[in-house]
Amino acid sequence: MSARVVVVGSANLDLVVTAPQLPRPGETVLGDDFRMVPGGKGANQAVAAGRAGGDCDFLGAVGADEFGVLLRDNLVAAGIDVRGLRTADRPSGVALIAVDQAAENCIVVAPGANATLTLDDADRTAVAAADVLLLQLEVPLPAVSRAAEWARAAGTTVVLNAAPARPLPTELLDLLDVLVVNEHEAAVVAGVFTDDPTPLLDTLVTLVPRVVLTLGARGAAYADRDGTRIEVLPPKVDAVDTTAAGDAFTGALAVALAERGGLTADTATAVLRWACAAGAACAERPGASTALPERAAIEALSAATYGGAE
Ligand code: ADP
Repeated sequence: MSARVVVVGSANLDLVVTAPQLPRPGETVLGDDFRMVPGGKGANQAVAAGRAGGDCDFLGAVGADEFGVLLRDNLVAAGIDVRGLRTADRPSGVALIAVDQAAENCIVVAPGANATLTLDDADRTAVAAADVLLLQLEVPLPAVSRAAEWARAAGTTVVLNAAPARPLPTELLDLLDVLVVNEHEAAVVAGVFTDDPTPLLDTLVTLVPRVVLTLGARGAAYADRDGTRIEVLPPKVDAVDTTAAGDAFTGALAVALAERGGLTADTATAVLRWACAAGAACAERPGASTALPERAAIEALSAATYGGAE
C-alpha cells in the first residue's frame, strides 16, 4: 500500500564553508571549498519520506532565482510532487553555514520565500487526499495551522515535528495527532527543563495524544494518553554525521504510520524501529540531505537489527 504524505514546509539552500576556525566579528578567515546543499526541514523531510517509499507532495515556496531552480530540481529528482511549490516574489531561503575543524558551526538563516507561504484551495485538496500531513515550524504559523485544520476535518493524520523549537499555541496543539520532538524541542514545547525523558513525555501527552521523542544514539520513545510507554534502541552504527538524522527519522515515521494505518500502541514498536533505522542510516553517512536513506537501505538496516519479521 502506498503511503500518501503531504509536507507543508520550508526549502532552503545551505551554503556551506569549512574553515580552520570560525571568524570573530569583523574578521575574515580563509576557508576550504564552498558547497551548496539543498536543505530546509520541510524539503528534507519530504525527500526522506519519498526515499522511504512514500508518495509525497511538497507544499512550499522558493524564489524566482537560480537557487529556486536548484531546490525545485532536487525535489523532482527525489520523486516529490511539486505542483504545490510556489515561486514567490522574494529570494529563495538560504542558510549561510560556517563549520570549523571541531564541527562547531555558525549559521544565519534568511527565510526569504518561505516567509511568504500561504495556502489555497488546491492545497486543501492535496491535504485532504493524504494519509499523513507532515509539518515543521520553518514556515509561517498561520500556514501550519491552516493545513492542520484541513487535515483534521478530512481525517488526515497530523504529524508536527516541532523544529525549530518554540512554545506552541493551544489552538495548534489541539489539532495534532502526533508530536515528534528531540529532547531540546520537547523541553521547550513542554516548558519543562530536565534531562529525564519521563517527565517530558508525561507533560507532552497532556498536550498532544501521541508523542515521539527522539533520543539521538539512545533511539526513540513513544507515549500516549492511554499510558503506553515504548522505547526503541536504534541500530548500532558508526555515526559520522548526524545532521538530518532527525529529518530522516521523521520522514520515515510518516511513511510507516501511513502504511500501518496509524500510530497506536500496537504499531508503535514497528513504526519507531523503522524510523530509527532511517535515522541511523542517515547518521552513518556524511552530509545532510544527501545522506537521507533510500527504502532498501532502511529495510536492510532494520532487518539486520530487529529481524525481518516486521
Ligand atoms: P535531531 O537530529 O533532530 O536532534 P536525534 O539526534 O534525536 O534528532 O536523532 C534522530 C534519530 O536518528 C534518533 O532517534 C535515532 O534513531 C537516529 N540517530 C541519531 N544519532 C544516532 C546514532 N549516533 N546512532 C544511531 N542512530 C542515531
